Amino acid sequence: MYDYDLLVVGSANADLVIGVERRPGAGETVLGTDLAVHPGGKGANQAVAAARLGARTALLARVGDDDYGRLLLDSQRAAGVDTVGVLVGGAPTGVALITVDPSGDNSIVVSPGANGRLAPGDVRAAASLFHASRVVSTQLEVPLETVVEVVRSLAPGSRFVLNPSPPLPLPREVLDACDPLIVNEHEAKVILGDACVSDRPEDWARILLAKGPRSVVVTLGAEGALVASGAEVSRVPSVKVDAVDTTGAGDAFTAALAWRLGTGASLARAAAYAARVGAAAVTRAGAQASYPTAAEVDAL
Ligand code: ATP
Repeated sequence: MYDYDLLVVGSANADLVIGVERRPGAGETVLGTDLAVHPGGKGANQAVAAARLGARTALLARVGDDDYGRLLLDSQRAAGVDTVGVLVGGAPTGVALITVDPSGDNSIVVSPGANGRLAPGDVRAAASLFHASRVVSTQLEVPLETVVEVVRSLAPGSRFVLNPSPPLPLPREVLDACDPLIVNEHEAKVILGDACVSDRPEDWARILLAKGPRSVVVTLGAEGALVASGAEVSRVPSVKVDAVDTTGAGDAFTAALAWRLGTGASLARAAAYAARVGAAAVTRAGAQASYPTAAEVDAL
């Protein structure tokens, strides 16, 4: 009855990456490697990750009428994402300027560009996509008022999944709709603010749950994740792999979790599957380029 297993509303960026021996300080110029350009942005990453697993996926996003916008549309279509909801124009495509040193530490400047112009009216105009989607997932690389409109646009019976990244204090209306709210350690601490009175992720999950979400997931990198709903907090075991590059693992985890929940899996089972997807993603370089197919996840 639904046309899409997952509708992702969110950002699409071109990641412009230069390797450097040392990241420049103020007023300094350093020489680096050839420029590499990769499709990225949390929304675009999530949509590609879900589609690669086999989910029928649509993306609602905004890109510029420029070469980076076309690169992003091409990568979505190549993964099998329906781009009917990708709006073009209004500002240049969002860009992340990334310098990476040999130790893997990076400095990043983001120009939100068209992502910052994805407006509440764009969400209202996409009502048919919302009615056709079993699960809707989003992040915070688009304006918060747009995320509020996403919550107001959910069709009866559909499920809302939020990864609040980059983290901001969230209005109660958004928190109440999350099922689940998915946070890593840093995001948990920012959302909890003064309420972060413990070092234990189990406590963060409980306190976050008390702020309104129907369920909470805390991702813990190589340690796996925690899921919390009702009075129960349980651990999702990690999958042991040789990590090569963790970029975009959180987006792959969120996309996989959202898709599995839509197929009727319990939160614990969906998170266990998502942990396998996240683990598979860290065994390869890049974000979208690292995302596994369902067969690759099964083989892990
Ligand atoms: P990022 O911002 O790098 O995309 P994140 O901080 O949002 O990631 P993580 O907690 O690092 O999210 O990773 C998401 C999930 O991916 C984890 O809960 C875990 O299941 C899996 N994962 C991440 N890193 C590893 C690893 N080194 N080994 C195994 N699984 C991993």
